[in-house]
Amino acid sequence: MTDLHEHLTHRIDDMTGDLVSLTQELIRFATINPPGEDYTPCAEYLGNRLKGTGFQINYFRGEGTPGDSDRYPRTNIIARYEGRGPGPTVHFNSHIDVVEVGHGWTFDPFGGEVKDGKVFGRGACDMKGGLAASVIAVEAYIAANPEFPGAIEISGTVDEETGGYGGVAYLAEKGLFSKPRVDHVIIPEPLNKDRICLGHRGVWWAEIETRGRQAHGSMPFLGDCAIRHMGAVLSAFENQLYPLLASKRTEMPVVPEGAKQSTMNINAIHGGNEEKHTGFPSANVPESCRMVIDRRYLLEEDLATVKHEVTSILDGLKENRRDFDYAIRDLWDVVPTMTERDAPVVKAVAAAIEEVLCKQPDYVISPGTYDQKHIARIGHLHDCIAYGPGILDLAHRSDEYVIIDDMVESAKVMAFATHQLLTGA
Ligand SMILES: [Zn+2]
Repeated sequence: MTDLHEHLTHRIDDMTGDLVSLTQELIRFATINPPGEDYTPCAEYLGNRLKGTGFQINYFRGEGTPGDSDRYPRTNIIARYEGRGPGPTVHFNSHIDVVEVGHGWTFDPFGGEVKDGKVFGRGACDMKGGLAASVIAVEAYIAANPEFPGAIEISGTVDEETGGYGGVAYLAEKGLFSKPRVDHVIIPEPLNKDRICLGHRGVWWAEIETRGRQAHGSMPFLGDCAIRHMGAVLSAFENQLYPLLASKRTEMPVVPEGAKQSTMNINAIHGGNEEKHTGFPSANVPESCRMVIDRRYLLEEDLATVKHEVTSILDGLKENRRDFDYAIRDLWDVVPTMTERDAPVVKAVAAAIEEVLCKQPDYVISPGTYDQKHIARIGHLHDCIAYGPGILDLAHRSDEYVIIDDMVESAKVMAFATHQLLTGA
């Protein structure tokens, strides 16, 4: 171990108390999204903390983005510390929003309680623990090596849990996640301290509507039932689409194992009249039925083919099934992204994991998307990974926690990787 690494190791160990209290303080802001509670005080808390260690602070409100209002401003913070002289910029990006609390908690979700070497609370794992670890990593690094070249940035951004449009997407549109301002990005999402997440699968959401004709329910032969048409769609999906999806395997190292193939969830089906007023159903043949699908696709697939697989089944029904008609509407899509294994940020974090944890890292791909999509697509920056403490399976659960030792170790990994990326050493 080099002198600097040894120095950083001791310094970060000494800062453990600070790391824990920073995590607790961040958890105590109930930044629930939707609707986007407490973004501004949480961003300002982070800003004030980093201002105290010499960062320049800028706040950006995602004005006009979904959910933004004076009551719920989409307040983002970017903190930047200039080194001595020219060099690259290393950026740590964390989202400050958390999902709703839900049921089944035995701890106060916003108490930040410490027990058995863990900090508990909504967002402890996803991802205020990771944010706190990156702050400590960077502060320790700046103190240990104040002469470093280049610059270091830390951002706290909003709305990741709802697509990131008021957060990273908004900032990327402004050029804040592009060269020459930023060169390397680490997103401390909870992917486990020994894993490097290279990217994520693609997404296509769509709404399919089948159409029928109204009639009295006692004489369904006078109408045309849209729900039966949707039943035909479901059965065609079972017979044709699902076997096809199961046959498509990816070379991407997606975790968990079940997500190494193409998948499709049926998020919802709506059809017929609601039993709104009396609770008693009305005798109507439904004229419309809607289904929302959530298709996750692989790097080896392209979106046009993914869509065609579905529409060709629908067109087949149109040809062969009497009176069948449909409409399809795109709701959302995200292209899959995967950073190369020999990209600088991957190599730097891999070397740091080997040194701190004495093991080779695992390389993984996330089944769902996160803010890396905006950095790749809008910022055109491809030297980006997710790496952070926290156990992925605990995200969004009750009694969510982050293990303090994991935060300390991943802070060391982040500090070593920062040094490598800035100086090549
Ligand atoms: Zn997250």
